[in-house]
Amino acid sequence: MDLSRLAIHTQTNKPWTLAQCVDAYSRAGIRGISVWRDVLDKAGASDAAKLLRGAGMSVPALVRGGFFPAADAKSRQAAIDDNLRCLDDAAVIGAEMVVLVVGAVPGMELGEAREQVTEGIARLLDHAGAVNVKLAIEPLHPMYAADRSCINRMAEARAVCEALQNPLVGIAVDVYHVWWDPDLEAEIALAGRQKTLFAFHVCDWRVNTRNLLTDRGLMGDGCIPIRKIRSWVEATGFKGFNEVEVFSEDYWSMDQHTYLTRITDAYLSHT
Ligand code: ZN
Repeated sequence: MDLSRLAIHTQTNKPWTLAQCVDAYSRAGIRGISVWRDVLDKAGASDAAKLLRGAGMSVPALVRGGFFPAADAKSRQAAIDDNLRCLDDAAVIGAEMVVLVVGAVPGMELGEAREQVTEGIARLLDHAGAVNVKLAIEPLHPMYAADRSCINRMAEARAVCEALQNPLVGIAVDVYHVWWDPDLEAEIALAGRQKTLFAFHVCDWRVNTRNLLTDRGLMGDGCIPIRKIRSWVEATGFKGFNEVEVFSEDYWSMDQHTYLTRITDAYLSHT
């Protein structure tokens, strides 16, 4: 039973506080936790850091920053300020990276939005270097293109990485968002060569999906070829965590300890 590369996003167990997540994951033999900002804000970054260190947890990511595009300069600056705070918090808790959901503005042309994303990330680079925290662009499924992410394919995330050419900027591959991409295998291999493959997130695509945000499946519940995609990721030499990230009203309504057992079972059988 190898759980050594399993990490769980706190949002997966949304009913739990950070302390409850850390306690339950530790007892289950899980050593990785990606922390969401809502639980971090409730716990306070320095107390959270003590909790995580005390339990010996590795923190692949603080989730999430981003949301760069906006109609006016003042709102774009507010996004930069928020991302700088996010980088500081990530450094305090020892997170390796901040995951970026890059944003989009309904009605703004997607190419323009991507330019604003590239500019926004560029403005974070000095600070990211100073605190030594990486920035991982997460392409989101095109159903989110209107208002959450103007970056929907690996190739668009790669274009930003290539424009910025900074070792702190890379890509978070989330199977939920990119499993359908005909270029996925080639793009993962290319990200491996370009050293921009920073993270690997797993869950499953339910058929039918009943809600665009909160009806993700646990691995094995849906149609994503997770093992195959993991094999492509590992063929690049990726040694990071397999991060379970499931938003599900169904699973949030379960007893979370019972659910955690389901998560580890699904991880071992279907990832
Ligand atoms: Zn993700």
